[in-house]
Amino acid sequence: MKNVSVDTVLKGTAVVPGVRYAPAVWISPRPKLPKAGQVVAENQREAELSRFNDAADVVAERLLQRSAHAKGAAAEVLKATAGMVNDRGWRKAVRKGITGGHPAEYAVVAATTKFVTMFEAAGGVMAERTTDLRDIRDRVIAQLRGEPEPGLPDVTERVVLFADDLSPADTAALNVDLFVGLVTELGGPTSHTAIIARQLNVPCIVAAGSQIHSVVAGTPVLVDGSLGTISLGADPETAVQAEQESKMQAERVAQWRGPAKTKDGHHVQLLANVQDGKAARIAATESQAEGIGLFRTELCFLNATTEPSVKEQAEVYKKVLEQFPNSKVVVRSLDAGSDKPVAFASMADEMNPALGVRGLRVARANEALLTRQLDAIAKAASELGRTEETAPTWVMAPMVATAREAQWFAGLCGDRGLTAGAMIEVPAASLMADKIMPHLRFVSIGTNDLTQYTMAADRMSPQLAYLTDPWQPAVLRLIDHTCKEGKKFNTAVGVCGEAAADPLLACVLTGLGVNSLSAASTAIAGVGAQLAAVDLETCQKAAEVALNAEGATNARALVRELLLGDKA
Ligand code: PEP
Ligand code: MG
Repeated sequence: MKNVSVDTVLKGTAVVPGVRYAPAVWISPRPKLPKAGQVVAENQREAELSRFNDAADVVAERLLQRSAHAKGAAAEVLKATAGMVNDRGWRKAVRKGITGGHPAEYAVVAATTKFVTMFEAAGGVMAERTTDLRDIRDRVIAQLRGEPEPGLPDVTERVVLFADDLSPADTAALNVDLFVGLVTELGGPTSHTAIIARQLNVPCIVAAGSQIHSVVAGTPVLVDGSLGTISLGADPETAVQAEQESKMQAERVAQWRGPAKTKDGHHVQLLANVQDGKAARIAATESQAEGIGLFRTELCFLNATTEPSVKEQAEVYKKVLEQFPNSKVVVRSLDAGSDKPVAFASMADEMNPALGVRGLRVARANEALLTRQLDAIAKAASELGRTEETAPTWVMAPMVATAREAQWFAGLCGDRGLTAGAMIEVPAASLMADKIMPHLRFVSIGTNDLTQYTMAADRMSPQLAYLTDPWQPAVLRLIDHTCKEGKKFNTAVGVCGEAAADPLLACVLTGLGVNSLSAASTAIAGVGAQLAAVDLETCQKAAEVALNAEGATNARALVRELLLGDKA
């Protein structure tokens, strides 16, 4: 993007790249919530109940109809939201409130509050679902009152949509020809809004803070989804040009074909992050991924109440492995705990779950859980006839912090003929790389957690997004150290955190000596196209510049200037 003169620049977390210039529009307000107090006469409660049922049915039906017209994740989200309106537990709680004398509107509020409290107490992924719950509450209340449906405004021209937070249902229903950019006060890079925005490929910035409320509807705004900036008062001509350049860049990305190489032919293996067979199929058929660099096995079992047998697990793993019959697949052993509760493998009620018994640590008290998983992986690989030469099946452990843990894990893998590696996501693992690497064939740097633990900042916190930024030079220095040790010990070093999805950071990582980058399928072409535009020496210069920057913003801006020739 060219240097655009502006009055004010607001900043959030960049989620989907792309520059767009259009007037701001705010999401329609949520209904005012009723307070307790009013009591419905006993002989009218039956009528109140059917008023609620009718309203809830209308809301669910409307969402289902939208789902029928949507595709992919968007359709699934709308269907799931309709499912929440029809949820027996929630409806029962509302019914109880109404038969107890509350007006329908208040009974909806009370029932929702009860579920929100429960979900928040469960934390992690469950806590993220509270946005969905509040959303259905507001839709049903608006319907009960005959008010317009809260959410997306009716627009006829291109706009950038501003909101406190977007409900999954709103995001999924977006017409991307009109809503060309998204900016939210809250949310995080892994929220539903972010996931769907990525799928719809709408430039998106989240966690931009309460400052965005200063943006009045109708004001032209320039959003840059790769920098995370919202510029007010940009020169219209230059802003339009910046938007056009960004679209041309998107075109170059669409044309890119792998395998990835820098301009001077240095190969960087680009791999996909997946969580099940479906995602692996998309990676194999719709992306240029050379294989899978991170199979998050715990995500297969979030709904399982008991541990699946070795045979059952092997079937699940085969669905992923068979999508890449002739290429490398890196399977991660269960990373249960913290924000990924797996009923049969997580510790209950820890004070600090992110610092608690998660990842490989779970297996210390329950080694059989890990060995059964390794048996299942070995079984899946051998039933598909995979070998190290034809189709390597590598296994890595999450949250390794010591050489002993690495040695123990490698021993268990070796017993089963599996190639062992470890994630480098605890700073200690990077610092102790010289003791850890001799036990392993490879390591893969999990920049999401490495950043969280290096910066002592919760990766789920929107207020701390400025710290949980993998451009932080402290994080890059740990990656640099890991790469240098990797060279000494001939241990392959990959990156599989979100950092690998950022095209400019991918160049920095390549310059640091990373051999492979693993990211969401949709991010692969953007990374490949950027690598193709630079030579290795420039990547090394970019790495040098980023390592010596005084902070994340500065590192990003300097590298941007070096690689794209423009000032942010
Ligand atoms: C990471 O921490 O960077 C990583 C890839 O693992 P996860 O995001 O699943 O914790
Ligand atoms: Mg991690």
